[in-house]
Amino acid sequence: IPMEKPTHIVIVPSPGFSHLLSLIEFSKRLIHHSNGLQVTCMIPTLDSPSEPSQAILQTLPSTIHSIFLPSIHFNKETQTPIAVQVQLAVTHSLPFIREALKTISLSSRLVAMFADMFASDALICAKELNLLSFVYFPSSAMTLSFCFYLPKLDQTFPSEFKDLTEPIEIPGCVPIYGKDLPKPVQDRTGQMYEFFLKRCKQLHETDGVLVNSFKGIEEGPIRALVEEGNGYPNVYPIGPIMQTGLGNLRNGSESLRWLENQVPNSVLYVSFGSGGTLSKDQLNELAFGLELSGEKFLWVVRAPSESANSSYLNSQSDDSLRFLPEGFIERTKEEQGLVVPSWAPQVQVLAHKATGGFLTHCGWNSTLESIMNGVPLIVWPLFAEQRMNAVTLTDDLKVALRPKANENGLVGREEVAKVVRKLIKGEEGREIGGRMQKLKNAAAEALEEEGSSTKTLIQFADNLIGN
Ligand code: UDP
Repeated sequence: IPMEKPTHIVIVPSPGFSHLLSLIEFSKRLIHHSNGLQVTCMIPTLDSPSEPSQAILQTLPSTIHSIFLPSIHFNKETQTPIAVQVQLAVTHSLPFIREALKTISLSSRLVAMFADMFASDALICAKELNLLSFVYFPSSAMTLSFCFYLPKLDQTFPSEFKDLTEPIEIPGCVPIYGKDLPKPVQDRTGQMYEFFLKRCKQLHETDGVLVNSFKGIEEGPIRALVEEGNGYPNVYPIGPIMQTGLGNLRNGSESLRWLENQVPNSVLYVSFGSGGTLSKDQLNELAFGLELSGEKFLWVVRAPSESANSSYLNSQSDDSLRFLPEGFIERTKEEQGLVVPSWAPQVQVLAHKATGGFLTHCGWNSTLESIMNGVPLIVWPLFAEQRMNAVTLTDDLKVALRPKANENGLVGREEVAKVVRKLIKGEEGREIGGRMQKLKNAAAEALEEEGSSTKTLIQFADNLIGN
């Protein structure tokens, strides 16, 4: 009797750490609810994968295989924006994806492909083989709502969105000003906009979208997304999905050792995601502001750059501390703060009892990790959809403080110090902490056996396997 072929799915992340991480964690959950499911992760690559990306792949269970697709190189002269490079890397990888799919289908029952939105060109190959095609959306339901809505907005408003005087009303979402919309739509004449709009349109051509969120934090947007007759494909809220550990990366133990010696809820953790950077002047103001606040801090420092996402594909550099103001480390070390170059074990830091606040760039993974641990926030959005997440956190959920920039567009040191003190010691910080605890409970509930996200995922998995 011939052995039954194992059921197999393929996942395709766009290059970059956080999308890879989130898709892998999603697959682990899916495997958990689908007996015998095999997963192949096909990874389009720009130059070489970053150290944290490689670290994730070293911790994979035997049911997930990974393949690095041949690396794509861009001519540095052409100055293609990173947001476009990551998408083109996928497009240029299509021949390799096709080949690999054929090989897998010889020995497996291949049923579906999951790609993140910036990798959705890969779904073309899935359709050619009659596989189901899904987008895994590693960001908020509000951002997803915006993406579904953009093709319509594009038709209705001829001008730049930032010139609109009224906030935009996306179904189910808090009103949002044009300037807070995702970075790629801030210049409608640019290449980034053209690519982004195309990805938004592609969402409508899939068999469904899985979104890393849950009703407890995004009630309005999720209700609108799953509403019958809204004209969208099926949307499955299955979050929060988050990192379960990265293995051994550099600098890890130092941060945790230092936290061990601090009193509960006293430390502000400062980090701008896997690759966010500040300008030189802003880095200076932040440093002086932290010092001035008198509060404890653990800061992941990256070398300054004029472009906020310049380290997105390669976050590791050991010499970033030399860009701090002169004498800063000597004045603050041991007693007030710890600075670590490039990377900290964020999930463990946020789970540590000494951590009492998080100054974040509002990447969605960072946002969820903070919520899962009930850590109050200071929001400091930099690029992508981070301004939108900041609006959700401040205006909708009211679990964050937002420092104000001065007329030069910089957040000055006094402002930094004021906001940090308010969060760690002030009355407002305490109230925010209370609301965060509620969100933490809601997140835990969504993931219980009978929780909304677990039930959605189980049903999804049953349909997929039975398919
Ligand atoms: N991260 C980390 N250590 C760091 C910086 C980031 O472990 O020093 C992890 C963080 O826990 C999160 C991810 O990297 O899981 C960053 O994802 P996010 O969506 O917040 O931001 P992005 O990297 O996409 O800008």
